[in-house]
Amino acid sequence: MNKVALITGAGQGIGLGIAMALAQEGCDIAVMDIHPDEAVISALSELRNQGAEVLYCRADVTDSEARARALDTIGAKFGCLNVLVNNAGVAPKVRADILDATEESYNWVMGINLRGPYFLTQAVANWMIAQQEADPSFESCIVNISSISATVASPSRGEYCISKAGVSMATQLWAVRLGEFNIPVYEIRPGVIKTAMTKTVQDKYDRLIDDGLTLQARWGYPEDIGKAVAALVRGDFPYSTGQVIMVDGGLTVPRL
Ligand code: NAD
Repeated sequence: MNKVALITGAGQGIGLGIAMALAQEGCDIAVMDIHPDEAVISALSELRNQGAEVLYCRADVTDSEARARALDTIGAKFGCLNVLVNNAGVAPKVRADILDATEESYNWVMGINLRGPYFLTQAVANWMIAQQEADPSFESCIVNISSISATVASPSRGEYCISKAGVSMATQLWAVRLGEFNIPVYEIRPGVIKTAMTKTVQDKYDRLIDDGLTLQARWGYPEDIGKAVAALVRGDFPYSTGQVIMVDGGLTVPRL
């Protein structure tokens, strides 16, 4: 597969797992993240070891000028962009009851998880449409990484849940708008995945998993999400635009 993929937040965690899986599929990779260059050297070399051409765009997804600069750099290096994976995201710095949580935290989480990706998608979608019009055989897709928090209410991090519910609607909106251009838009909803984001609650989730939180009695790993994204990018779900792929070990299966 000779495609170029942009993955946001791929300096570590789930994003890096996705980038690795796509590199193994033969994609060239653009990583967008906020880490300084020195902090991503080993992640980028892991990707290069899979045979991928790799570009690091240090850019904050909430910054419209930085987003535009990153897309220009990708255009200059690769000449095209086939895949956008909106993965960068944050949890609130402090888990606070929604009776007490602050507007500052709300704005910060919503900016990174929802507003930034929404306008990055807008810019990339317009570029994909132009590429499609220039070459009808051009293949592209967009994948949004939401969370089970799109539907599972956690009142100690309301802003996170609302942002992920918003990502779900964004998936549907872009799927509707881009249908006529043959650009599928998918959503992946991870469950509890072992990364830096869940490090502070590791003991809690270890216990919950032991007690049956998930049907598959283990943590999820970045590779689990990477495999799902690779299947979408390969074209294994060609008739499923706008749909949600659950990667949660059965956590959200209703039980009695
Ligand atoms: P992580 O903290 O390990 O990685 C997030 C990455 O996003 C980091 O590299 C970070 O630098 C980057 N990032 C943060 N703010 C950014 C910004 N403004 N601009 C660009 N990049 C930015 O977390 P993760 O667990 O790998 O999470 C990745 C995605 O998966 C997030 O959207 C998260 O909400 C989602 N998710 C995670 C879990 C989980 O259990 N870990 C579950 C469901 C969904």
